[in-house]
Amino acid sequence: MWSFMDKFEVKGHICRKHNCHYCCEETEMLLTKSDTFRISKSVGIPPSDFSFLTKDNYRMLRNKEVNGEKRCFFLDTNGLCTIYDNRPEGCTYYPIIWDMTNHQIFSDDYCPYHKEFVSEIDRIKPNLELFVLKLFGYL
Ligand code: SF4
Repeated sequence: MWSFMDKFEVKGHICRKHNCHYCCEETEMLLTKSDTFRISKSVGIPPSDFSFLTKDNYRMLRNKEVNGEKRCFFLDTNGLCTIYDNRPEGCTYYPIIWDMTNHQIFSDDYCPYHKEFVSEIDRIKPNLELFVLKLFGYL
């Protein structure tokens, strides 16, 4: 079913086509306050179980160790996100990210398939800009 958010999300079919969840390993995803509240409510556990405060006082998703590898707290053993419908807003945009230093939006080359997302940048840009403002406390 189409939802308002779909218009602004990066389409997951590219990840599914490649059976890729590389960005969910050793994740460094920051959470907004509303992400933290929504996820905590949806899974019924306190924020400190799935996230932590960085030294700059931002909230970040926690990784867990599985077979010696670090992966997102919410990634299951089949490589699927267990909170997909409630995942952090930043996860809905990745690999399109905001470069804080150069004030640019681009597709992150950490993603092995980042070139396939370049055409999404213009569509995602307005919401990604709002997200960055939310993340850093301006909204
Ligand atoms: S919340 Fe879901 S989509 Fe986001 S990094 Fe974790 S497993 Fe991946």
